[in-house]
Amino acid sequence: MTTPLINGLHHVTAIAGSVKKNVRFYTEVLGLRMVKQTINYDSPDTWHLYYGDARGNPGTAITFFPFSGIARGRSGNNSMDATLFSIGENSIEFWKNRLKTYQVDFRGPFKRFDEEYLSFEDFDGLPLELVANAQDERVGWSTPGISEEHAIKGFHSAVLGYSSYESTFDFLLRLMNHKLLDKAGDRVRLYSGEKKPGNFVDLVAHPSLPGQVPGTGTVHHLAFQTKDEESQEKIRADLLAEGMHPSPVMDRQYFRSVYFREPGGVLFEVATAGPGFLVDESLEELGSSLKLPHWLEDQRAQIEANLPPL
Ligand code: ZN
Repeated sequence: MTTPLINGLHHVTAIAGSVKKNVRFYTEVLGLRMVKQTINYDSPDTWHLYYGDARGNPGTAITFFPFSGIARGRSGNNSMDATLFSIGENSIEFWKNRLKTYQVDFRGPFKRFDEEYLSFEDFDGLPLELVANAQDERVGWSTPGISEEHAIKGFHSAVLGYSSYESTFDFLLRLMNHKLLDKAGDRVRLYSGEKKPGNFVDLVAHPSLPGQVPGTGTVHHLAFQTKDEESQEKIRADLLAEGMHPSPVMDRQYFRSVYFREPGGVLFEVATAGPGFLVDESLEELGSSLKLPHWLEDQRAQIEANLPPL
């Protein structure tokens, strides 16, 4: 069997409000590792913060553009409904207690596709879930308050919501190497690569919901993982042949990216698995200071002066 061109999720990028609250929520409450402090390459006065496992491996990193002073968005159709993280099968009680301790309101545990999950939002209202399962062998980043047993292992799945998801379903199957895994009510679960947490995408239909209003607490784009630049070029060529409009390949320093709108309107990215976050920092130093790509290094003083403090 040939390797599929898409091998699961790569990262999720969302819009945050206060940078300090964002750092506190993801590093302290959820206990992810800050794996990179950099800036939005297309808007150098904005932070781009990455949180993930020890190395920020593909399939673990949630990233944010914090903009203080822009309005809160609203979830709705043709966007990401929720970002789901994977935890161990016996970790639901631990996380209920931890979220209570940090006064984060949660709902659940509920059950879906035979897995228990908790549902809550970050400090900007971004919808998140923790899904307990026995299949995930990845090891998460542990902190003084969160042992390896209970640490978040990475993404479980991305949930996309539409008034009807047929065009996206068809697109993911035909051009993005996804396969149907399961179906329940108004939800289908697809996967790419191996059938395991981190590789799932759920499509949900809620016909009466209005469209998403972008702003803080909403997802900006969803990135899928591809092995290397050659596979990325193949996907890009397929998208062009389909009459779609993928961006040129862009150098994001830690990976290479192609962006496009899928037929349901969500901004997708296909990102290469490498080179990864260790290209400009050691494993110990990861995420500890502002890193700039070489083409912006000569503007460092000005960029640092314009960024709000973490
Ligand atoms: Zn991205």
